[in-house]
Amino acid sequence: MLENKLNVAQLDTPIQKLEHLSQDYGRNIYIKRDDFTGTELSGNKIRKLEYTIQYALDHEYDTIITTGAVTSNHARATTALCAKENLECHLVLSGSQQLVEGNLFLNQLMGARIHSIESSNERDVTMKTIASELQEEGKRPLIVPVGASDWIGTHGYVNAYKEILKQEHQLGIKFDVINVAVGSGGTYAGLWYGNHHYQSNKQIVGYAVDADREIFTEKVKHLVKDIDKSTTDFDTIDINDHYVGQGYGQATDEELRFYIDIAQKEGLVLDPTYTGKAFRGMLTELENGTFDDAENILFIHTGGLQGYTQEVRERMLKLLDK
Ligand SMILES: *Cc1c(COP(=O)(O)O)cnc(C)c1O
Repeated sequence: MLENKLNVAQLDTPIQKLEHLSQDYGRNIYIKRDDFTGTELSGNKIRKLEYTIQYALDHEYDTIITTGAVTSNHARATTALCAKENLECHLVLSGSQQLVEGNLFLNQLMGARIHSIESSNERDVTMKTIASELQEEGKRPLIVPVGASDWIGTHGYVNAYKEILKQEHQLGIKFDVINVAVGSGGTYAGLWYGNHHYQSNKQIVGYAVDADREIFTEKVKHLVKDIDKSTTDFDTIDINDHYVGQGYGQATDEELRFYIDIAQKEGLVLDPTYTGKAFRGMLTELENGTFDDAENILFIHTGGLQGYTQEVRERMLKLLDK
């Protein structure tokens, strides 16, 4: 395990009880606010990047190249941390850049060099090409994979798991289930490995936001093995792919109505790409009896509010008018 990390995220993030939903569902539902890790640095990615960027500094890299969708929270957190640590930052972003809003705007503001590509299939080759060009200029670029989900970044959520165990002790609560969105897999892999390593017997449930269960299960296994080769029993990996809906970054009216409901019931805003789908998945599974044995249920709010694009905002306002 890596020992060294930067300390830039606002930790420990608080755990709060969702009173109205707890009453409605007859269970204690808590939320861990990893959307409070910072403002520019907000969300789950900074926990991983604390390890990634420390690694880059330790190995004398001077440039970071990473990738994601135009709306990527990971790209934005990387940009902010690179600015802070004096690293040159290159982002390879897929999707339309017609409207400069949310994270795309913040990336430009904080000085990232942006390279657009048509499709996410071009990510890896494009990053490699940029790396070779920069090396020819005498730079030392480090390629960070999408979501910083590799063995280095995954440490961030093993550490978050330890933080949860500490908070359980402080709060006098034992969580039976932890729920989280799964996009590139590192967050889930870190939590799953934490639970496995500390033998705390929780159910760790991940809700896929794009690919299917099999793909994520394999990815999580690889990430865990890269941290600890001795892990062999992966039976408890629990990825639910029933709430992907229309695909990555796509939201149905039904989903948007659900986010409005939660916002008005709890003063809690979920993002339309990750936390919204996962939270809806969690409540639906609760209704279906999946967690009937669980008393205390934790959801990790991984951030993402910059993901409300103009298109989605306008659709939501129309739904509010009805
Ligand atoms: C990236 C992201 C996730 C998913 O985390 P992974 O480690 O990529 O699986 C969840 N929520 C938000 C808001 C994110 O930006």
